[in-house]
Amino acid sequence: MRARPVPPVTDDPVVAELDALRREAEACEKCLLADTRTRVVFGEGDPHSDLMFVGEAPGYHEDQQGRPFVGQAGKLLEQLLATIGLRREQVYIGNVLKSRPPNNRDPKPEEIEACEPYLLRQIELIAPRVICTLGNFSTKLLSGSQTGITRVHGIPQRKRLGGRELYLYPIFHPAAALYTPAMLETLKKDFLRLPEVLALPLETDDEAAGDTPATIGPRGAEPPLAGPGPAPPSAPPTPGPTQQLGLF
Ligand code: URA
Repeated sequence: MRARPVPPVTDDPVVAELDALRREAEACEKCLLADTRTRVVFGEGDPHSDLMFVGEAPGYHEDQQGRPFVGQAGKLLEQLLATIGLRREQVYIGNVLKSRPPNNRDPKPEEIEACEPYLLRQIELIAPRVICTLGNFSTKLLSGSQTGITRVHGIPQRKRLGGRELYLYPIFHPAAALYTPAMLETLKKDFLRLPEVLALPLETDDEAAGDTPATIGPRGAEPPLAGPGPAPPSAPPTPGPTQQLGLF
């Protein structure tokens, strides 16, 4: 008889609920990706972080390891995080899809629909101040708008998601920026504004926030503040085979 995995003991209800949700996702067969995936990539990081990243879907390495953003795009994401003084363990990183689409093809609408409840519950439990959507799929899903990332990147949107008020902050997907120098520059600039977005007021703060759209300095201007972190990322990783197309 095979032993059943014993869930870790924790006093933290958020950790316990996320663990239960992870087990549910690991057994999920709501779409055909269950037939082709190696591992479910649920998401990882600090479950109490103010900052959550939502990518598109696991790629080859993520599918092999069961962890999000562990390939080239993940390395770039870590370098970008370092520019604002953060490490990946200090944020939460997830995806729209928890299973890899074969050959990294675009997620299908029925796959997004089947997986959406997991993401929404993650958002509800983690309750971040800011969700940074990476690329088109997460941006369109969570903004509820079909406006593409090229038009909305770098502009915080105040939203209600998972029963809470938060800011959505769309930026280009790191996998797309790996192969397009101009996009990489824009991504770096947008990323450097994350500390400002994290400091934007929310109704849940002591001082009640107004109803006005979020305002930070004009997009495209030099960011007024950089985090306390180390120097900007060194040269971007050498491009590998094209992955994760159709991102913007
Ligand atoms: N691209 C994504 O969108 N998610 C990952 O986890 C890795 C690459």
